[in-house]
Amino acid sequence: MISSKYTIREQNEAKILTVIIDKKEVSRAELSTLTGLNKASVSAITKKMIEEDFITETRIGDASNVGGRKPIMLTFNRQSALVIAFDLGYNYIEAMLAYIDGTIIDSTRKKRIDVTAKTVVAQIKEITDYFLTIQPETPHGIIGLTAAIHGQVYKNVIHFTPYYDLDKSNLWEELQALYDFPIYLENEANLAALGEYTFSSHYQNLVSISIHSGIGAGIVENGHLQVGHRGRAGEIGHSILYPHGLDCPCGNSGCLEQYASNKATYQEYAKEAGLDYVNSDILQQAFNEKNQQAITLLEKNAELLSIGINNIIMMYDPEMVVINSSLHRKIPEMVDFINTQIKNRFSKDVLIRNTYLEKSATLYGAFAISAQNFLNIKKLKLIKVGIEELEDRD
Ligand SMILES: [Zn+2]
Repeated sequence: MISSKYTIREQNEAKILTVIIDKKEVSRAELSTLTGLNKASVSAITKKMIEEDFITETRIGDASNVGGRKPIMLTFNRQSALVIAFDLGYNYIEAMLAYIDGTIIDSTRKKRIDVTAKTVVAQIKEITDYFLTIQPETPHGIIGLTAAIHGQVYKNVIHFTPYYDLDKSNLWEELQALYDFPIYLENEANLAALGEYTFSSHYQNLVSISIHSGIGAGIVENGHLQVGHRGRAGEIGHSILYPHGLDCPCGNSGCLEQYASNKATYQEYAKEAGLDYVNSDILQQAFNEKNQQAITLLEKNAELLSIGINNIIMMYDPEMVVINSSLHRKIPEMVDFINTQIKNRFSKDVLIRNTYLEKSATLYGAFAISAQNFLNIKKLKLIKVGIEELEDRD
């Protein structure tokens, strides 16, 4: 049962909070001008939000040049609440506890484990219960837990997961029965896009490409995550690259991810180099040693990926395409290879770059879902400290 503190924030409160978050520091008079709400409303709403610890009076500001009283400045209390995020891979779980602004308090990663319909609730519960024991005291406590699913999800229902059986679980219902804060399930690539939107860029239109065992795209258009009719928008890994090509678990053959996913690239290099096991570290080392086999393979991978990226740019016209992939983070030159392959005059001016959120864009997107819903701000921007300077280079 979700308690009343999670019910939707009133529209004018959300409007005022949006301006306070965007401006970082603002007076009541400025709030009135920027929101169009009269001074009495602004005064009443900010009083309530101060009592609720959402905002804080920070300092006396400068008097306006027409004289009058010096205003008191207001800022968003970035540590007023906590969020929990999970990334559920088929052989790993990663989780983080953070303040509502994405400042990380603790994180945990379990590698080389099986994540299945039978085990997943207990796996999440173990980590969540640990976070509950170490959470710092905040006015609102935990305001949401969001889990990233590698597969098709729509409105918290898991429809299809090609690489594990979570589509056979009742994950949302079971987690919601365990905890009194809201639970959200969303596709991993969608969350990565939302993480980029909320925490790492000023853009309103962007696409994030997540490359792991599969390839998925998350699309943010005019500040809204586009998930399509059933959550299938952006499944570019299952767009067909070679008709009658390799079989894919989706039922088609010749899908992009059977050739250009990191998993496919590792398998290909293992075959060519006669190795039992290949990961991003092994390929990075080979690339740095100027191994011609590795370079050729990575250039081929960039060529194939650029086809998928070109297609998605043609469909959605984003301002930026962000790559979320451990291989591309370790070998940033691969992004240069992709850029040289994008020859289309329509898309040459689109910025294509690696993520600034390291390996955690998905987890940041998971924070964003909980924060958006709690604050009732759909186009929430909480640019991460330190990223603004990077962004100036874009
Ligand atoms: Zn497929």
